[in-house]
Amino acid sequence: MGRIIGIDLGTTNSGISFMDGEEPKIIPNDRGNRITPSVVAFTEKGEILIGEAAKNQAVINAEGTILSVKRYMGSDHIFNLKQHGVYSPEEISSFILKKLKKDAETFLGEEVTDAVITVPAYFKENQRKATREAGRLAGLNVKRIINEPTAAALAYAYSIKGKANILVYDLGGGTFDVTYLSKENNRFTVQSSRGKSNLGGIDFDNLLLGKVLDNFSKECGIDISTDKILMQQLRDQVERAKIELTSRENALIALPFITASNKPLHLQFEITRREFEVLIEEFIGSTVELSLAAIKDAGAKPENVETLILSGGSSRIPLVRSMLSSAFKLEPEKKINPEEVVALGAAIQASMLTGEVNDIVLMDITPFSLGVEIEGGKFVKILQANTRVPARKSRVFTTISDNQRSVEINILQGESENASENTSLGRFLLSGIRDGKRGEPRIEVIFSIDADGILRVKARDIDTKVEQKITINSAFREYDEISFKEKISIKNRVTSLVNRVSALSEKFDGFLDRSFKKEIGETIRIATKAIVNENVKELSKCLIVLETLIGELNSLCYDEEAGEYEQA
Ligand code: ADP
Ligand code: MG
Repeated sequence: MGRIIGIDLGTTNSGISFMDGEEPKIIPNDRGNRITPSVVAFTEKGEILIGEAAKNQAVINAEGTILSVKRYMGSDHIFNLKQHGVYSPEEISSFILKKLKKDAETFLGEEVTDAVITVPAYFKENQRKATREAGRLAGLNVKRIINEPTAAALAYAYSIKGKANILVYDLGGGTFDVTYLSKENNRFTVQSSRGKSNLGGIDFDNLLLGKVLDNFSKECGIDISTDKILMQQLRDQVERAKIELTSRENALIALPFITASNKPLHLQFEITRREFEVLIEEFIGSTVELSLAAIKDAGAKPENVETLILSGGSSRIPLVRSMLSSAFKLEPEKKINPEEVVALGAAIQASMLTGEVNDIVLMDITPFSLGVEIEGGKFVKILQANTRVPARKSRVFTTISDNQRSVEINILQGESENASENTSLGRFLLSGIRDGKRGEPRIEVIFSIDADGILRVKARDIDTKVEQKITINSAFREYDEISFKEKISIKNRVTSLVNRVSALSEKFDGFLDRSFKKEIGETIRIATKAIVNENVKELSKCLIVLETLIGELNSLCYDEEAGEYEQA
């Protein structure tokens, strides 16, 4: 296997890494920086800028600049860039990935096609799928999607010897994630994980921005929040001030010459670290609480944590460090930059895939509960969140009406009691249930997940022994490129193409030479096998071949009508 690079595709910043022998290393971008802003911009001239270039012009081109696209991953949000067209979150992300790929190629002096990309542990199936799709659009073979905190732990624990209980606290620009892992020799076991997909540095910026705006409107009586350019300038200032407060006791936010009124005004706002801490205290407090909850989920106590790993730029905030230190009576690790730790871990994971590093074993958990929908649109959990994989569990259900012959099993992932608020991973029908009064038949639903994160669900009527099963490739860890729904649709398309090819080849049987007939026969055989095995890769290949065949057969039809073919 060739080289696989590691990519931390962040909300705010992204990073790339590779294994230099046994050591993971950050790949600097074309400007020599070790992280690249995850910013994409479309300029007046029709250029697409990515990274620093995009971030630097955000002030003068607020409308054409896209920040924090990761927050939209997996949603059907559309970025409408007027004359530049409309883009999906996957497409915007793919621009970032393309740049990272190119920077890696320049640095390494070779083509890069394979990558491991990290995502927050709390990313759902659709968000992971969107990330894979972004990779595909960027021309990358996404070898694996791994959880950011797991990557961070790998980066540290790679150098920690022996046993350790590790807490990874990751507070970036847009997301918060915490994971508790244990390491014994070289075996990592993820014990639990929690997070919030909408909490990060941006929120601190917003709090500070709100305070500045409030203050300004009180002082001068004007509201500048509708002026996009001004707001972008102010945002930059606010973030800069926030970062300054990490190393200094106070900071100044200043915007000269605001001309929204008849006489030019200056905005000036001074803030101390303590004032800023008061603003964000509640947020930080909730991250500490989630960290404690994660430890409790794992059946452990705060004092069991031996190694505290901080990741994400916002974890540099002194209040984060002091609140964590007092909650865990432990100083955080400082060896690796918090902005780089995830990317470095991704490179280690990549080398585990190529076999370069083969003495590390990673055991993961299901970060979400998995179960089925029952009467009244309720969700019943069969495998609880944080269940160690591999795992197998079953529950017995029954019918809701007399002589009910079939039940539909809707497989869900999530934590809400209401089925509709969770994510559906797939459905299937169990028919052939024995006749009986409602509540009599016993239907056992079995969930099992193997070490690769592949979920298998089986339902069977205990009395008649009829059963039905479904395999969901990677319910949580390694996601299949294609969803269950898409799988069904591609299967149906191939089936209908096979039927058409058969019909057409029968119709033109007399016109087809022997080798063409053989080709058709062979294609139908391969396609039928792919349909039976639900092999998506094969099905996609067949789709193209079958469509070509139909084109050729149809052209025979056309020619026949033109009378150009003679009966052989
Ligand atoms: P993400 O994982 O979201 O892509 P990062 O881990 O790079 O991003 O974190 C970016 C966030 O960290 C931004 O909100 C940024 O303002 C914040 N940040 C970076 N450095 C500091 C610092 N020294 N003090 C406080 N916040 C910081
Ligand atoms: Mg990050």
